[in-house]
Amino acid sequence: MKLLLLNVLFFHFLLGYDYTLKPEKVNATTYCFFGLAEAMDEHNNGNMVNSCFVNTGTHYLVIDSGPTYQFAKQAYTKMKEIQALPISFVINTHTHDDHWLGNAYYRELGVDILGSKEFANEPKAQETRMQKRITKEAYKGTSQVFPNLFVEGKKTLEIDGKKVIIKSVNKKAHSKSDLYIYIPEYATVFAGDLVFNERIPSIRDGNLRNWIEALDTVKSMDAQYIIGGHGKLVDKHSVDATYKYLSELTEGVSLALEEGTDITQTLDSVKMEDFKDFKMYDTLHRQNIETAYRILEWEE
Ligand SMILES: [Zn+2]
Repeated sequence: MKLLLLNVLFFHFLLGYDYTLKPEKVNATTYCFFGLAEAMDEHNNGNMVNSCFVNTGTHYLVIDSGPTYQFAKQAYTKMKEIQALPISFVINTHTHDDHWLGNAYYRELGVDILGSKEFANEPKAQETRMQKRITKEAYKGTSQVFPNLFVEGKKTLEIDGKKVIIKSVNKKAHSKSDLYIYIPEYATVFAGDLVFNERIPSIRDGNLRNWIEALDTVKSMDAQYIIGGHGKLVDKHSVDATYKYLSELTEGVSLALEEGTDITQTLDSVKMEDFKDFKMYDTLHRQNIETAYRILEWEE
């Protein structure tokens, strides 16, 4: 019996993990795999991030390759069931590992991968954050493959006759490596982690004022669809929750600093009750206040 169980476990490991992914149609040209509004753990195995496919006519353009090799492979398999198209490029919106650890799969297919030049400055991790938090079975096959083409400033691709404009924020916003992608013909912007909805964003790696400024730019673009790195809203209002959250956090913490309030009292005074029902409020909001306090204290 014990041997049988061991055998089952072993074969399970060989087969890997099935994410049971379902592509969701955003519009006539775009499908996304929307991740859960949670932190990565051994239950979701990293399926807490968005990965999208844009059909440009005779190719798919992939925005963020997802959390693991197997996720990427299973996502593309699902897309081929809808229409079997080759992939033109993969774009990584920033250097946080939930967004690009699927790269190894696309590299195997020989696809060019674009990302911020900041990737070149990132040392490869001994063990990635993802690797520490998800099961070995799901991480199997995953390796740290960085983009082979870097974006600095602005880069325009022409794919199947459509313009794909990639812009680097070029300063620390959500991270110091944020890119957003604009496809004018499809009135679509992929904003990466500049845009979160359904859940509280993490500001640990960011700069509040620059992030709000970047969102102002995204909001002003002539787009019908704005798709973030986390969360399922895809219309122009997808930006609103992050915008409001960052603005109120900045205002609340700045006021506390002006009044000389200490961090303990600030944690109580900047509760932002409107966001209480957002996912991850309990785990992230206090942490965000502390980060904001530290950032804004320096700006005083
Ligand atoms: Zn993310």
